[in-house]
Amino acid sequence: MESYDVVIVGAGPGGLSCAKNLSGSGLRVLVLEKNSALGKKICSGEISSKVIPGLNPSSIFGGAQEWKTVGVGTAKGVHHISYNRPYLWTVGRAEFENWLRGGCDGNTDVRLAEPVTGITPEYVETSKGRYHYRYLVGADGSFSSVRPFLKLPMEHIVGHAFHFVLDRPSEEFRVYWLPEIFTHGYGYMMSKNKGQTMVGGAMAHVSQHAVLAPRVKEWAQKEFSLDVKSLRSEGYRGNADYRGWKFGNVFLVGDAAGLLNPVTTEGIYYAVKSGEGVARHIRNDPEGARIMSRLASTHRAQVLLFDLFTEPSLPFSWFVQWLLEDPRKGIRKRIFDYVFWRFMDC
Ligand SMILES: Cc1cc2nc3c(=O)[nH]c(=O)nc-3n(C[C@H](O)[C@H](O)[C@H](O)COP(=O)(O)OP(=O)(O)OC[C@H]3O[C@@H](n4cnc5c(N)ncnc54)[C@H](O)[C@@H]3O)c2cc1C
Repeated sequence: MESYDVVIVGAGPGGLSCAKNLSGSGLRVLVLEKNSALGKKICSGEISSKVIPGLNPSSIFGGAQEWKTVGVGTAKGVHHISYNRPYLWTVGRAEFENWLRGGCDGNTDVRLAEPVTGITPEYVETSKGRYHYRYLVGADGSFSSVRPFLKLPMEHIVGHAFHFVLDRPSEEFRVYWLPEIFTHGYGYMMSKNKGQTMVGGAMAHVSQHAVLAPRVKEWAQKEFSLDVKSLRSEGYRGNADYRGWKFGNVFLVGDAAGLLNPVTTEGIYYAVKSGEGVARHIRNDPEGARIMSRLASTHRAQVLLFDLFTEPSLPFSWFVQWLLEDPRKGIRKRIFDYVFWRFMDC
C-alpha cells in the first residue's frame, strides 16, 4: 500500500486549492479524481474578484469573459443595470482548475480517472490500489463519498439546477425573480463556462425538484422562444447543508462540506477558500481554523437570508419583488446596488 500524508478525494476547485496550499510544506499529497480530465463539473464558471484576490481574471485566463451589465427579470420585464467595472468573470472550469493544478509542487500527485470506491479509517481504495493517509480531505462535491463515510446527512438545503444548453456564447448575464414559477429559486440565462449559454432555473428545496424541469421547459419556450425539444438539457445538485469541516483527521471542503451559498448557488469561492483553510490547518497554521470559522459564520448568514426568502409567511419576497420590478433609479437603485455588490463582495 502506498502511503501519503494527505489524500484528497476530488480535483475540483476545493481539492486543488487544498493541494496548492499544501505545496511547499514537504507533505506528500495525493489527489484522486474520478474524471479523466479536470473541469468537467456542470457549472457556469462565474467567479468574482474575491476568488483570486489581487489578480485580474482577464489577464490570467485567456478565455475569461467580463460582466459589467446585469439583466434583472421579473414578471414586468427585464431591466439592464450597468457598472463601470466588472462584477463577475466567466472562466472555463477546465482552465481554472488547470491553473490551480499548475500551482502545486512536485510532492503533489494528481491522478485522473481514479474514482475512490472505498474509505476506511486508515486508507482509501480505488480500482488501482489502496492509499494509506494521515489526513483525508473530502473535496468530492455534492455527491461526496467522504461525507457518508462520516455519517453526515444531507437534508436541509440541497439545491437543484436544470437548464438547456445553447451552443453559442451568452451575450447577457440575466437573473429572473419569478416566485410563481421558481418558488423562491431563480431563473437564469448565463454563460456555461465560455462559448455556451445556459437557460434554466435553480430551486433549493428537495420538495421542489420534481417540478423544476417541467416549469423550466415551459418558461424557456415562452420567454426565449426556444425549441426545447431540440436542445440538450442538464441538471445537477448542490449541497448547502453545512455540518462542520473537521472530524478528527478527516476534513470536508467545498460542496462536500455544504458550503455552497444557497441564495445564489455560488460555490467556487467557498470551495477554494475552504481548501485553503483546511490546508493551512494541516500545516499547523492557526489562520486555517480562523478561515473556516469565518466561512461557517458567512454560511450561517446566507442560510438565514435563504430562510427569509423561502418562508412565504414573511413579507420578504414581496419586498424583493418591489425592489426588482424596476431597480434602475431612486431608492430601489441604491438598495439594489448595495445588496448586489455585497453579494459579489468585490
Ligand atoms: C448549474 C450550476 C451552475 C453553477 N454556477 C456557478 C458559478 O457560476 N459560480 C460559482 O461560484 N459556483 C457555481 N456553481 C456551484 C459550483 O459549481 C460548486 O459550488 C463548486 O464546483 C464546488 O467545488 P468543489 O471543489 O467543492 O466540488 P466539485 O467542483 O463538484 O468537484 C468535486 C470533484 O470530485 C470528483 N469526485 C466526485 N466523486 C469522486 C470520487 N468518488 N472519487 C474521485 N473523485 C470524485 C468530481 O469528479 C469533481 O471533479 C454552480 C452549480 C451548478 C449546479
